[in-house]
Amino acid sequence: MYPSRFGYEAPKSIEEAIGYLTAGAGEAKILAGGQSLVPMLKLRFAAPEMLVDINSIPGLDYINIGADGSIRIGALVRHEDIERSEELKTAQPTLAAAAHLVADPIVRTRGTFVGSVCHADPQGDWAAAMTALGGHIVVQGPKGKREIAMKDFVLGPFQNALAFNEIAIEAVIPAPQGTPVGSYLKLERRVGDFATASVAVALNIQGGNVVRAGIALAGVGGRTIDATEAASVLVGKPLSEDSILAAAEAVAAAAEPRTDHRGSSDYKRQIVKTFVSRILTGIANSEQKVA
Ligand SMILES: Cc1cc2nc3c(=O)[nH]c(=O)nc-3n(C[C@H](O)[C@H](O)[C@H](O)COP(=O)(O)OP(=O)(O)OC[C@H]3O[C@@H](n4cnc5c(N)ncnc54)[C@H](O)[C@@H]3O)c2cc1C
Repeated sequence: MYPSRFGYEAPKSIEEAIGYLTAGAGEAKILAGGQSLVPMLKLRFAAPEMLVDINSIPGLDYINIGADGSIRIGALVRHEDIERSEELKTAQPTLAAAAHLVADPIVRTRGTFVGSVCHADPQGDWAAAMTALGGHIVVQGPKGKREIAMKDFVLGPFQNALAFNEIAIEAVIPAPQGTPVGSYLKLERRVGDFATASVAVALNIQGGNVVRAGIALAGVGGRTIDATEAASVLVGKPLSEDSILAAAEAVAAAAEPRTDHRGSSDYKRQIVKTFVSRILTGIANSEQKVA
């Protein structure tokens, strides 16, 4: 199917882009990598009057890792930039583990990290990783910049907290307390598919104790599931068989899977429990080797 007719602008600055969005009064949409928006246009799930293509705006393709370990990812950083970043492999294990599991190599060359978070797909890998990491999104609109915590950013399926004339300019992962450890596991029917169920785990470990535990899920609910409260059973002590089991059970209980062509809800919940346990056991084993 062909998309509905739309206008197209390629602004050279964020301010110019905001001007087009404001003039569009809710009928204009940002085009980043186009890997979700273009299919939606073709299926006529979206029919904006105007596309505001941000790809010509300079200076949005950075990955900055601060001396304190905080990470800033600009709006035009592609999935493959995350996958190829040697710095991120050591600085942020959860992102590094997820990067090669997002879509397929062709999609990863164009699709952007921030665009994926903005798309707020319940099966989206980056929204789950950012939620587990306790990150936030910096957005800019006519009145300037503001920060939106990930827990407030995804409002529901394909719904984010941006006003119609705001642009997400960067994703920020705060500095870890202690050592950041974590991983990402995803069950997909075939390589490149969306998640049947996936689990993002991001822990901070200091003096052998877990000082922060973030866990989030994709594919097992009508939106990204923030299971950080369930993960709090891990905080204040070292990882142990008991705490891992308690966390795996609590996180699986926080999932809201539905039976569909990818599997039954019971099956998906079991996958979540297994993945949480597998990631945490892996971390515990490598912590023991370090100690
Ligand atoms: C074949 C295929 C397989 C896929 N598999 C997966 C998968 O396994 N896992 C996964 O997570 N995703 C998958 N996707 C989806 C895709 O990877 C991301 O959703 C996509 O890359 C989003 O980023 P984008 O830059 O392409 O955004 P676009 O498609 O350009 O935009 C998506 C939405 O976000 C908005 N937007 C984008 N950037 C901004 C911004 N800076 N500020 C405000 N709004 C913005 C747009 O207006 C639009 O509404 C797949 C896509 C395809 C085509």
